[in-house]
Amino acid sequence: MDLMEYQAKELFAKHGVTTTLGVVVTTAEEARAAAADIGPCVVKAQVKAGGRGNAGGVKLAKTPDEAFAHATDILGMQIKGLTVNRVLVTPATPPEEEYYFSFLLDRANRQYLCIASVEGGVEIEEVARTNPDAVKQIAIDPGVGVDEATARAIATEAAFPEAVFEQAVTLIAALYTVFTEEDATLVEVNPLARLAGDRLEALDGKVTLDDNAGFRHPDHAAFEIRDETDPLEAKAQEKGLNYVKLDGEVGIIGNGAGLVMSTLDVVAYAGQRHGGVKPANFLDIGGGANAQVMADGLDVILGDAQVRAVFVNVFGGITACDEVANGIKGALEILGDQATKPLVVRLDGNNVERGREILDQLDHPLVTQVDTMDGAADRAAELASK
Ligand code: ADP
Ligand code: MG
Repeated sequence: MDLMEYQAKELFAKHGVTTTLGVVVTTAEEARAAAADIGPCVVKAQVKAGGRGNAGGVKLAKTPDEAFAHATDILGMQIKGLTVNRVLVTPATPPEEEYYFSFLLDRANRQYLCIASVEGGVEIEEVARTNPDAVKQIAIDPGVGVDEATARAIATEAAFPEAVFEQAVTLIAALYTVFTEEDATLVEVNPLARLAGDRLEALDGKVTLDDNAGFRHPDHAAFEIRDETDPLEAKAQEKGLNYVKLDGEVGIIGNGAGLVMSTLDVVAYAGQRHGGVKPANFLDIGGGANAQVMADGLDVILGDAQVRAVFVNVFGGITACDEVANGIKGALEILGDQATKPLVVRLDGNNVERGREILDQLDHPLVTQVDTMDGAADRAAELASK
């Protein structure tokens, strides 16, 4: 789960990373009231995307009326396709220098990585391209971690200026605590800012929490923002389905994550021959593809207004093809008039003959059977392009 800036800063504060929390509001009127308490402030769009400053989502306000005006502009605006539903009103503390700092999980090398640069503020990828020497990458052995001595070595390598050096050491150690204690896979501060009076502070924050460790953190559930979750993903989650919404026209249902992943590839490839249609989602219904699971899956996919055809790609294993075919049959009964889009079904594996026979006998106007995965992908893409 990715956190918004204000949530990331809550975790920073909890573990002693110097930051200012500010006030989160959802209306311009509340922004005015917050600014009246705070004084000169910045109004910051809260969306799970970077580059808010460049998109016009971070604005300085000298007076409560200015904060009202900026909040009016920013609330409802789109940043990288995300609607801004809340803004953070926080004291204006113009940075004298901006640095970059992060800890992240380096899966490929089975370790943690620390990235630090005294040239922060802008996109770090840009700095890495134009001035790679300014971006320090320091491997962290998860078994050893980051104690004060390591934090000191990192601060030296990153070349934090003398005036903020000791604060940087403390802050690095505290950020590492956020990273490990909260089970994050990313903790990023950009800018880590040197403010007036040589105060070092996290002016922005980005945290990605590892959902697999969610059971250790019941308090993390409070970070889930219902109105920011895709409604289809929320519905799928309620039904215990493994669903990810994508931006395409061909709905996908399969059993097994590997099969579904390759189905996405095959459909994307076939789509190139049919007006560029693309997969609309990832949906793995897992092993027990009974009627109810199939109906739940179809229900979620048919609820996606972008979907124009559905590809059901099942390899019968422990759950044999005849059970899956009966599942599809049952699902169409459960859904009734709600099933409105063509289904292309490809069955293979255990009891395939019997499965195909069941669907042949069903003779449903929406269902087409194709025996091969490539052929079925092509047919589904063709139907979706019409
Ligand atoms: P994003 O990374 O999404 O663009 P940031 O929070 O980093 O958003 O803000 C963008 C820029 O706005 C920062 O690099 C900093 O220069 C400025 N800024 C952010 N917060 C404040 C603040 N509290 N006071 C003054 N300037 C700020
Ligand atoms: Mg930033």
